[in-house]
Amino acid sequence: ATPFDVNRIRQDFGILQQSVNGKPLIYLDSAASAQKPECVIQAMTHYYHNDNANVHRGAHTLGDRATAGFEGARKTVQQFLNARESAEIIWVRGTTEAINLVANGLAPELEAGDEIIVSRMEHHANIVPWQLVAERTGSIVRVIDINEAGELDLESYKNLLNAKTRVVAVTQVSNVLGTINPVNELITLAKAAGAYTVIDGAQRVPHGSVDVQALDCDFYAFSSHKLFGPTGIGVLYGKREHLERMPPYQGGGEMIERVSFEKTTFNVLPYKFEAGTPAICEAVGLAAAIDYMQALDRTGMAAHEQKLYELAQERAEKITGLRIIGTAEQKVPVMSFLIDGLHPSDIGTLLDQQGIGIRTGHHCAMPLMEWFNIPGTARASFALYNTEDEVNRLFDALEKIQRLFT
Ligand code: PMP
Repeated sequence: ATPFDVNRIRQDFGILQQSVNGKPLIYLDSAASAQKPECVIQAMTHYYHNDNANVHRGAHTLGDRATAGFEGARKTVQQFLNARESAEIIWVRGTTEAINLVANGLAPELEAGDEIIVSRMEHHANIVPWQLVAERTGSIVRVIDINEAGELDLESYKNLLNAKTRVVAVTQVSNVLGTINPVNELITLAKAAGAYTVIDGAQRVPHGSVDVQALDCDFYAFSSHKLFGPTGIGVLYGKREHLERMPPYQGGGEMIERVSFEKTTFNVLPYKFEAGTPAICEAVGLAAAIDYMQALDRTGMAAHEQKLYELAQERAEKITGLRIIGTAEQKVPVMSFLIDGLHPSDIGTLLDQQGIGIRTGHHCAMPLMEWFNIPGTARASFALYNTEDEVNRLFDALEKIQRLFT
């Protein structure tokens, strides 16, 4: 790969070259949804211009091409995650659907009194599906504590694990705090307790490939749209042995082997979990996004992101009354913060007037907000296409807001 050069990267993201409210756009909301490089848009346009057809059933050339693109994309994801085989890669709508699929799939194995462990920093997508399945099965959701820095309390985790623990479902990276959790250790301990491990990788994969075999987790989920790919598609990785045992998630076409009114048998993996016509073009787009990421100088990219965050931290410390929520040792470049005397949503509105897009609110992590005893945060999330100049302009704007409004 050629050395990482943010100015060259920015040429691949045409959307960033626009003005918003009369100011050059500064997009700092990639943790909510990332922008797409031109090659992703082109791959999707090319698909609709040339190859569009349904998959797996065409007795014709376009059907073959659509299928090749769709299944080729599955291979790309398999390699990105280092899964053993592409049959372990299930297409879903996103992280949310992936976790719902697993929760439903494991439900038949859960009994009254069984325990499901999540953490206090989970996105609602990794809380609510487990609550629903707990309600159905009589199992209990238990919560790993965190400390003031926004790190998991490993002692609390160890204390929760016991013979009744059936599932440990945790995020690899917090969307609010940016904390990188020690999932290797969490998985090892969960396995020793005989529990399934479900890792929410939504905020982890935008920062590089993942090795699910090295992690040895049972399930891993992510969304394409945070990984510079299109919306509407995501991935569930699962170990074959578990996916084989789990019942189908939805019924319909594609997922069956043979249907009769007496008895229906199901298709092989991964199709057993993919009822109906899938998001074909989106799969092609996601593969293009992964190819784009994989071709970058990854060490350079990580160093760039790190530099952005360090600069942000340095500038943040100079603003009176600014408090960073999430000060873990290991972080991705995501900064949640509050400014005394200002509501987060006002910070968002005032920044938008300056062309700066951040996210404000509870970030789908209400239990975490409650623990910190705050209504929400302002969150600036940095991605590979952001620059030091943008970080400086964000904090110039925040300094001004702090002076004028507090
Ligand atoms: N988990 C985490 C950590 C997230 O950040 C998000 C998206 N904000 C999700 C799950 C849900 O992803 P999606 O909405 O794409 O299903």
